[in-house]
Amino acid sequence: MSDSNNKEIHQNQNGQNNNEGGCGNAAEKKSVHTEPIIDRHYQLRETGKAKEIIQKAMDLAREEIPKGAVATYIPELSKMDPHQLGICLYPLKGDKIALGDYDARFTMQSVSKVIMLIVALEVCGLKEVFEKVGMEPSGEAFDSLVELDVNDSKPYNPLINSGALAVCGLLLPEVSFQDMLRYTRNVCSDAGIELNEDVFDSEMKTCSRNRSIAYLLQSKGIITTDVEDTLRFYTKMCSMNVTAESLANLGKKLANDGVCVKDGKRYMSSRTARIVKTLMLTCGMYDGSGSFAIRVGIPTKSGVGGGLLSVSDKRAGIGVFGPALDAQGNSIAGCKLLREISNELRLNLFYDPEWNKEEADDTVLREMKANSVI
Ligand code: GLN
Repeated sequence: MSDSNNKEIHQNQNGQNNNEGGCGNAAEKKSVHTEPIIDRHYQLRETGKAKEIIQKAMDLAREEIPKGAVATYIPELSKMDPHQLGICLYPLKGDKIALGDYDARFTMQSVSKVIMLIVALEVCGLKEVFEKVGMEPSGEAFDSLVELDVNDSKPYNPLINSGALAVCGLLLPEVSFQDMLRYTRNVCSDAGIELNEDVFDSEMKTCSRNRSIAYLLQSKGIITTDVEDTLRFYTKMCSMNVTAESLANLGKKLANDGVCVKDGKRYMSSRTARIVKTLMLTCGMYDGSGSFAIRVGIPTKSGVGGGLLSVSDKRAGIGVFGPALDAQGNSIAGCKLLREISNELRLNLFYDPEWNKEEADDTVLREMKANSVI
């Protein structure tokens, strides 16, 4: 971890943090498919072929698991089986693809920061939210309080702990945890989401770092609600039990401008959906956000429970579960899995089906020289 504190999410068997991460590998791989698997309208052509590709990606991703470890700083999370891996992909059109442990329950952890932000933007409004938190990547660990020590500074963004605690301070007078749970069940199309009391109790006993952040935010006038109540609200949000499928459902609504494809109901404004996706791309993977954006190119939010919520805009919502984490606290196999399927299914934000030129780099260079552009 890059933070100056000595706390670590986990240590690998050699007692060292693994800094490479599941999506790390400098050499970019060319897709093996000449015929694009998505059509001109960004929709998957063949579910069967896509499923085969995802299965292969799962096998590759599993190889990353031994390089990571489950979170231990919340004692209850250390009981998770690191070998679990599951994915659910909901294309906007076409059938769901679900493999592995896609229906296993795990706690949402930081993925819930997306829900907190959606509700805060809707209930409190954009101006009020961004008076309390910034919109910039932090480059720091998710639980850093370094930046808060500086005069006049506010949390960098709402997707790190300090920012989410500030958002909870805004939410607390407006909504109850039960309201948030109901919204989460609706937006995730999963009535089975419950508070995991064991994980909640475990984190409340060991959250001195978040407590410090929250009191510091109070001292700066950013949190004006009761600090202990705010901390409990935040920790309950992190302790909701979801599945990869519930996250894929949320991702699908975000990918479709906040509207459910099935029933046409709107779950957030267009503006909120756009802001949330932008922040997921720039800040969703903490101090691994930039490299993830380059390698995978899909707005994604991680949680230390092993969850990843990904939004392949206009194409699909994706939920991943893999509790072995890398040094930044992101699912190590999950990152690898997303990297593979982003390449193979062409889910990258900047991919255009019309630009399906996969020439070798020297061909392009030769062409550029011939055209005198270089
Ligand atoms: N509940 C966790 C915490 O506050 C969430 C962190 C995470 O998922 N990165 O530390």
